[in-house]
Amino acid sequence: MPSKKQISVGSVKIGGGAPISIQSMTNTNTEDVEATSAQIRLATNAGCDLIRVSCPTSESTAVLKKILKNSKIPVIADIHFNYKRAIEAIKSGVHCVRINPGNMSKIGIMEIVKAAKDHGGSIRIGINSGSIEKSILSRYKEPSAEAMVESAILNCKKLEDLGFFNFKVSAKSSDVRASVMACRQLSKLIDYPLHLGITESGALFPGTIKSAIGIGSLLLDGIGDTIRVSLSSNITNEIKAARQILKSLSLLDNCINIVSCPTCSRTLISIINISEKLEDYCESMKKRLKISILGCGVNGVGEAMNSDIGVFGFQKGMAKIYLRGMEYRIVKDSEILKLVKCLIDEF
Ligand code: SF4
Repeated sequence: MPSKKQISVGSVKIGGGAPISIQSMTNTNTEDVEATSAQIRLATNAGCDLIRVSCPTSESTAVLKKILKNSKIPVIADIHFNYKRAIEAIKSGVHCVRINPGNMSKIGIMEIVKAAKDHGGSIRIGINSGSIEKSILSRYKEPSAEAMVESAILNCKKLEDLGFFNFKVSAKSSDVRASVMACRQLSKLIDYPLHLGITESGALFPGTIKSAIGIGSLLLDGIGDTIRVSLSSNITNEIKAARQILKSLSLLDNCINIVSCPTCSRTLISIINISEKLEDYCESMKKRLKISILGCGVNGVGEAMNSDIGVFGFQKGMAKIYLRGMEYRIVKDSEILKLVKCLIDEF
């Protein structure tokens, strides 16, 4: 079940059954407004719904107003140690601040909540296995799922006791199992929206797989309201991976789903080349289409009949193309990509 409570981060609704939103984070120097704004534009065009910028200095919070003005999507400020940065960010008008309460004093949290109440905006309680409160960690000996859950509950209570309820929660670890177990437990204990992710998941290939397993397992259980894939890679790859996770679970509206086969000795057309190029072409398109491209008629006919655009190898170097279940044309291998792109554009 999605969270019972719904919060707003700027124009984006999170939780309470709202569509699962995709987040990412800039890795520019936030003080460099042009570079940061350019990266936010890149992320927005790739399909990012919410963007986070880190604010370690007063110089970085001082430019937030300009960054906000340039951004078409809500901006979240990431504050780790200094509560004053969070207050400055909130006063600048950011839509959310991400705090890690394990790194903050009680007074700091009180001041942040006061600023959020006075100026609007939401908070993410970001529990991370690497920064759980010492008092909790000493009892669990290791940053286990249970330790993260206890820390999350404790900090939800702190915000509730201050009369603040406009927040979401994350419990992330670089350990996939710990992250999944923590979120499963949390989803039973709190009604607040959950932000999912595997922290520091690694480079593009291993990080995408870890994230897909962790985030995907939770989404399959109906848990989670917003996601971030954290990769040691560029921002568009993070968003691409996040979109693919949602696409794979039919949780992304208006996207193109491409079915292609792994190829074998029966392959009659250049599947790998065509499917890779089509993936790139369709990546951030906002259309609801299913395209199948298979190397031969073994499964190709059935898939083509159930696709908006179906392509399969018919004889060596030749493909049959179906449109919504009806045979449309027979084309040469070298013409498939161009024709399918035209058909996508026409749909
Ligand atoms: Fe091989 Fe045909 Fe299956 Fe592709 S669809 S893997 S070419 S049998």
